[in-house]
Amino acid sequence: MKPTSEILARLKAITGEKGFIGDDLGMAPHLEERRELFHGRAAAVLKPASTEEVSAIMRIAHEAGVPVVPQGGNTGLVGGQIPDQSGEAIILSLSRMNRIRGIDSANNTLTVEAGVTLAGVQAEAEMAGRLFPLSLASEGSCQIGGNLASNAGGTQVLRYGNARDLVLGLEVVLANGDVWNGLKGLRKDNTGYDLRHLFLGSEGTLGIITAAVLKLFPRPEAVSTAFAAVPSVDAAVSLLRIADSVSGGQVSTFELVPRIGLDFLTTHLEGITDPLADRSPWYVLIEMTAGTRAHLDEAMEASLKEGLEQGLVTDAAIAQSEAQRAGFWRLRESLSDVQRFEGGSIKHDVSVPVSSMGAFIARAEKAVDERLPGVRVVAFGHIGDGNVHFNLSQPVAMEKQAFLGLWGEMNAIVHGIVREMGGSISAEHGVGQLKRDEIAATKSPVEMELMRSLKRALDPKGILNPGKVV
Ligand SMILES: Cc1cc2nc3c(=O)[nH]c(=O)nc-3n(C[C@H](O)[C@H](O)[C@H](O)COP(=O)(O)OP(=O)(O)OC[C@H]3O[C@@H](n4cnc5c(N)ncnc54)[C@H](O)[C@@H]3O)c2cc1C
Repeated sequence: MKPTSEILARLKAITGEKGFIGDDLGMAPHLEERRELFHGRAAAVLKPASTEEVSAIMRIAHEAGVPVVPQGGNTGLVGGQIPDQSGEAIILSLSRMNRIRGIDSANNTLTVEAGVTLAGVQAEAEMAGRLFPLSLASEGSCQIGGNLASNAGGTQVLRYGNARDLVLGLEVVLANGDVWNGLKGLRKDNTGYDLRHLFLGSEGTLGIITAAVLKLFPRPEAVSTAFAAVPSVDAAVSLLRIADSVSGGQVSTFELVPRIGLDFLTTHLEGITDPLADRSPWYVLIEMTAGTRAHLDEAMEASLKEGLEQGLVTDAAIAQSEAQRAGFWRLRESLSDVQRFEGGSIKHDVSVPVSSMGAFIARAEKAVDERLPGVRVVAFGHIGDGNVHFNLSQPVAMEKQAFLGLWGEMNAIVHGIVREMGGSISAEHGVGQLKRDEIAATKSPVEMELMRSLKRALDPKGILNPGKVV
């Protein structure tokens, strides 16, 4: 139900002027996202400054049946943070809840509020001489609450796991305003169901995450980064296994870069040149991290040497300076954005078992080309996790809107192959609005009903982020 002016006044009394936006101009940045796929309307944007304020807002929303859309840094790629067009919802932005609540060095944990940016969390860990390993290209603007709500992945999952693996405790405001204080820093706790995992990855549909206890790790003193040319995706996977065993599990990043992506980068971005002399269909960015430099350099060199001997690597360069390392990373991190210079782009964020990565890319490439000859496949990303961003750039001469009109059809082709290969149609970006209608086809009726039962139990009035996920 749309909030009446009386309800809006009560909500404003909770947050004060500073935490209430009711005008169109002020709300505008919260109503659209960067891919411009989703545009919504809202009755107000609320920016509470404390858990108590979130709780008071939820009590009123629950009582009046007002939909609530939680929003973090608004960098999500599936429209989960954007309300529908009805204008009935209030957006609950966590951006003012941005305090560091404490650090426990001996326990290796950091307790933060949901609105701290990911970069802010990383910086806090660094100041304490530790590492918080979650790392995404959007880290300057996304917030830890959004990262946890979407169970973000990123470039170090291989070594440290997804966002859900980095959390020991949560504080969550439930749909009816009750506060669950689960801010325990325990590494072992088998007293019943592990409730934090209900909320991690639930995309704001089961509760509002207001704070979290995060795991910290030793800061790696040594880093070895290489950019290697590989003849095929299968060769890349074999190289990963070599690097993993030679280094004793110290590979923290293993990212696939396609030749066409490198061509886009060298054509459109200032200061980017080919890092290797010869052209290759595929490349990988490999990073190992550990405590002692000598050991790492040896491990990287030995891995690449073995790869060369086995025909899995055709050329490679190991970064000799921080600037060269940053240059390799810039290549990887600019891949998503650079596609906009080549016209329309249809995205897929999919996963299959790492062992099936080569077969999946080959099959999907053939299938989309059969449907639209000349479509340009830009498949890149977290190959070490079996996760590829299988993006399609439009054929050179095609009209952009006509190409984007094929979004659903291309998704159906690619996701069909993913399903047949036992994969996931959303590896790390979530479901949101974009994939809501598709997930039923990828899950069994039992699994869907379990998800709906959980939603009904935790949000019986269906006010939390309606129209998303289930
Ligand atoms: C350039 C770029 C690179 C990216 N790279 C990656 C990547 O490598 N890996 C990856 O996984 N994602 C990536 N993303 C996607 C995005 O950054 C992540 O999904 C991020 O975790 C979202 O955080 P956010 O604070 O922006 O959340 P939002 O976009 O604001 O919200 C995301 C979802 O979480 C919900 N939500 C937000 N805050 C809360 C809260 N406190 N409590 C409950 N629910 C909440 C929202 O309702 C929504 O459903 C990338 C995005 C961009 C733009």
